[in-house]
Amino acid sequence: MNTCIICQNKTLSKVIELGHHPIADTFLKKERILEPQKLYPLNCLLCKKCGHIQNEYVVPPEERYMENDYSYTASNSKISCEHWQEYCDTVSNYINLKKGDHIIEFGSNDGLLLSYFQKKGAKATGIDPSPNMAKLASKRNVNTISGLLGKETLATAIQKNSKAKLICGNNVFNHIYNLNDVMPHVIEALDKNGYFVFESPYGKDIIDKFLFDTIYHEHASYFSIKSVDFLFKKHGLYISNIEHNLYHGGCIRVYALKDMSKYNKKLVSRYIKDENKSGIFSLNTYKKFMAKIEKDKFDTLSLVYSLKKKNQKIAAIGAATKGNTLINYYKLDRNVLEFVTDTSKQKIGKYTPGSLLPIYHDNKLSSKKIDVGLIISWNIGKFLANKIKKINPKIKLIVPGEKKLL
Ligand SMILES: [Zn+2]
Repeated sequence: MNTCIICQNKTLSKVIELGHHPIADTFLKKERILEPQKLYPLNCLLCKKCGHIQNEYVVPPEERYMENDYSYTASNSKISCEHWQEYCDTVSNYINLKKGDHIIEFGSNDGLLLSYFQKKGAKATGIDPSPNMAKLASKRNVNTISGLLGKETLATAIQKNSKAKLICGNNVFNHIYNLNDVMPHVIEALDKNGYFVFESPYGKDIIDKFLFDTIYHEHASYFSIKSVDFLFKKHGLYISNIEHNLYHGGCIRVYALKDMSKYNKKLVSRYIKDENKSGIFSLNTYKKFMAKIEKDKFDTLSLVYSLKKKNQKIAAIGAATKGNTLINYYKLDRNVLEFVTDTSKQKIGKYTPGSLLPIYHDNKLSSKKIDVGLIISWNIGKFLANKIKKINPKIKLIVPGEKKLL
């Protein structure tokens, strides 16, 4: 993909190179671990024209979602339940949600967020490509159309109900490669005063805070407000509000609508000014970014191998998708790590892609056989450290990038 997916510019600069990786969110069932695994190059390109950062290599959606059971569920953790409840309250308030309003969520996962909107009296339709997620959503009485955001799924969604007061997608708008194809259908399915709202990791945070493990193949885009504003204006959608939160280390929640008079030019300009100032559109910034993440990798590996030399047993903690970018970039596998722990029922009993670490419940860390835990879900590192210390007070912990044990 050497063309910008937002402005179609063909002169893009390769700014981040992380080597070859498997698809990060496909945790493997036991019967598949003896099969060959596909690896894809994981590099990012910068478009200097519209400011967009995108993946170079496109994995077809069928390979991403339909060949494997999708394992992430929104309702898995207390942190995410609280986050999506806050999202529902804030967004309902902002758009002045009324009983009977129709809400469409794409990438609706297990239906958690829509179930919150339903409690406020909204009619809800989910769109999701993963058959096992649609099954989980139906248990919550959330009606889900199977598929990706596009002409047919949106037409089906508005056929039964009215046009949408809200179309939203969270941590999925950044998965879409054909943005210019889907946007006209989104506009069509929106009510005259309807809002399009998405939340995604913020490109500026990824670069400023070195969140390199937010980069994986499912993420087509690492949005800046400059690139989102460019895309939306092109399709007649205007940003009215932006919120910035610390979910996943740094996300933007962008609100837009068709009414040009609601365009919040002042806010958009402020964001773009900050983005320019931080250097995310400059090549030199990415040289520093790569140097820093490589240094962190060497520091962490030096610590890990020095412990291995002393016969210490090390397990990884937190089988998150982003953890797979980290362990595969660090080239850690079963020769170094014993296993990885998590609490998700969708993941326990499976294996991590690439590194093939078996996934066990966090309680497995209570065993005296494990001396050290490597926290790979660093974004909730403090939360995990407190939790793990309760399970095993003697365990020592490593946080990537830190040179000392906790
Ligand atoms: Zn561009």
